[in-house]
Amino acid sequence: MSVRRGRPEIDAVVVGSGPNGLAAAVTLARAGLKVRVYERSAQVGGGAATAELTLPGFHHDVCSAVHPLALASEFFQRFGLSDRLQLTVPEVSYGHPLPGGRAGLAYRSLARTVDELGRDGPAWHRLFAPLVEHSQQVAEFTGNQLLRVPRHPATALRFGLRTLEQGGPLWDWRFSGDEAPALLTGVSAHTIRALPSLATAGAGLTLSTYAHAGGWPIPVGGSGAIVTAMVDDLLAHGGEIITSTEVRRLSELPPARVVLLDLTPRALLRLAEGELPAGYARRLAAFRYGNAVAKVDFALSDPVPWQARGLSAAGTVHVGGTRAMIRRAENTVARGRHAEEPYVLVSQPSGIDPSRAPAGRHTLWAYTHVPRGSTVDQTEVIIRQIERYAPGFRDTILATASRTAQDVERHNPNYVGGDISAGEVSLTQLVRRPVLSPDPWRTPLAGVYLCSSATPPGPGVHGLAGWHAALSALRHDLGVRVAPDLSPTAG
Ligand SMILES: Cc1cc2nc3c(=O)[nH]c(=O)nc-3n(C[C@H](O)[C@H](O)[C@H](O)COP(=O)(O)OP(=O)(O)OC[C@H]3O[C@@H](n4cnc5c(N)ncnc54)[C@H](O)[C@@H]3O)c2cc1C
Repeated sequence: MSVRRGRPEIDAVVVGSGPNGLAAAVTLARAGLKVRVYERSAQVGGGAATAELTLPGFHHDVCSAVHPLALASEFFQRFGLSDRLQLTVPEVSYGHPLPGGRAGLAYRSLARTVDELGRDGPAWHRLFAPLVEHSQQVAEFTGNQLLRVPRHPATALRFGLRTLEQGGPLWDWRFSGDEAPALLTGVSAHTIRALPSLATAGAGLTLSTYAHAGGWPIPVGGSGAIVTAMVDDLLAHGGEIITSTEVRRLSELPPARVVLLDLTPRALLRLAEGELPAGYARRLAAFRYGNAVAKVDFALSDPVPWQARGLSAAGTVHVGGTRAMIRRAENTVARGRHAEEPYVLVSQPSGIDPSRAPAGRHTLWAYTHVPRGSTVDQTEVIIRQIERYAPGFRDTILATASRTAQDVERHNPNYVGGDISAGEVSLTQLVRRPVLSPDPWRTPLAGVYLCSSATPPGPGVHGLAGWHAALSALRHDLGVRVAPDLSPTAG
């Protein structure tokens, strides 16, 4: 099967308008190609959208909320994201309440974090200082295929040794208190997997490095602002977007020189209608999906009444207690059960971006991890967990909007069973995403590429999967070897 039918009016079709689909579309349009994007939903942006989910005037991030990966991304740096919208960066990247009214705080400033961590301060410094100093090299290494020869081998080695330490039985050896290990575990648990593991440690180290490098920014107005910037650029360069159109077969698409799919391997198997070579189809079918999230958005009358000092200055708060408590909760989910006292990831944007809620009011974004496909509403469980560290929280709630894991998939089929990573994030599936190949974005179908977070470098709003896939398409099918200029000032 080929997508080269007749003389196409369109050079490139992109299916799916998530951050990766739009990154691919922008890259191809900037290379001078005529690009059309198809999106099943009425709203563009996939996992980066903002909407009034609870009450009028309360603007909630429907999926992604916090954007250290966008800040570190080579694609968004070339695109000049921070010149196109306002990113606001909290002084405390993330905070972590602990039993007894205590909390660990990861400031943007590594030095201040180290000072406040007391006896574990020097251990935190030794763990992160070499990575923070070379954070751009960490981004280069983690923002591509893992099997590539790293451009900065010394940084890759430092990162690898720390991953081995924090991803296995030695993960406690350098710490003596409980704030520092809890802080790192809260970040590592973003990867929905049993703890400790190499994949969770790698994610935790990367995100914690960024916490002390550029910080963990949020866009003023919400994550939808990132999508608006990309859509504006695409339209300004001749691209078009057709919403409310679900693509069910590749053969339905108009003739084009290349097709880029911001979709999962499961969707490609369906869309290709048996046209894929058997070996490749088997490998796609073997791609595993991970556990899931259940999300609750809150409209609040007041800020969260955190008991511990400093937490109100944090953009993100990891709720769930000590390293041992979070490990227990995450490992329960990994065994396919709901945790009684689960890990809860909380973003409180309105403290630093008042545009998110009417004057004096607040929005809160929270999700917890649940088994894949769960239909259990987690509103009460999440409120109970936050109340543990913020007594009186319940009294500030004006309205809630809840999504079960199944609702998350219904909203966006890329999140199979509610797996927001579009494929389990294990070491094996970081190397083989979705297949082991020097160019995993390219499929055996002529001109057809995968460009979603089911390809390297995996989940997050960074646009890198779309960028890598578009560069591969330009090189292999369109005879363009030089990466196009994406800067706001380029024609
Ligand atoms: C609740 C939640 C919280 C998150 N928090 C963060 C965070 O804080 N920071 C962060 O960096 N990342 C976060 N993420 C992850 C991030 O949103 C994703 O990794 C990212 O959006 C992936 O981008 P993508 O372009 O690959 O796919 P998506 O954003 O999933 O976009 C895929 C698009 O394809 C469309 N589509 C699917 N099938 C079809 C079809 N057949 N035809 C046409 N269109 C189709 C979908 O409607 C969707 O718009 C979160 C995700 C979720 C769900």
